Amino acid sequence: MINKPTHNALQLTVAIIKPHILQAPHLIKAIREIILSNKFYVIRTKRTKLTGKLAGELYVEHKNKFFYNRLITFMCSGPIDVHVLAHHNAIQLWRDLMGPTKSYQARFTSPDTIRGKHGLSDTRNAVHGSDSPESAEKEALILFPEFSIRQWYKDEEKYFINGKVVFNKENFVHRAA
Ligand code: ADP
Ligand code: MG
Repeated sequence: MINKPTHNALQLTVAIIKPHILQAPHLIKAIREIILSNKFYVIRTKRTKLTGKLAGELYVEHKNKFFYNRLITFMCSGPIDVHVLAHHNAIQLWRDLMGPTKSYQARFTSPDTIRGKHGLSDTRNAVHGSDSPESAEKEALILFPEFSIRQWYKDEEKYFINGKVVFNKENFVHRAA
């Protein structure tokens, strides 16, 4: 188990900023501010456009759901921002900030969450977050094949735990200093 929090360890999660948000730069900025103000470290950032193959790998667990085709079409409809985020409680914290999956529901039950504020429909719900350490690992491998989680824990985590990092605003990424 690589990505499992142990005492004082940082946990990693994968956040995706979905295509409709990328069309609104002020919303990208607002979501980035939420990430930083909640003291996440941004380990990797990439703007990309998903192919059907990659989207299919990401959402393989939903292959038989009624919304699968619309989900894949939407996720491939334009650029997305992908981030690997680190925090002591990264997975749950990011999911709490995102809010419930269904935007229409989120708007009523959790209006201050990202989905409550910026979700346009149950499919176009603004952001993605890993739901477990296993998913985070799988998603990081799909989206950042060149990024080795194992190597990061071995070489870099200590700098982040000790706050020995610099933030590159332009690339929206923290680096070990
Ligand atoms: P989450 O993103 O909260 O982990 P799921 O893993 O269950 O939620 O679903 C993956 C994505 O599929 C959601 O973020 C959303 O874009 C889409 N989706 C989920 N449920 C529905 C639904 N009932 N109708 C339309 N789209 C949905
Ligand atoms: Mg999910």
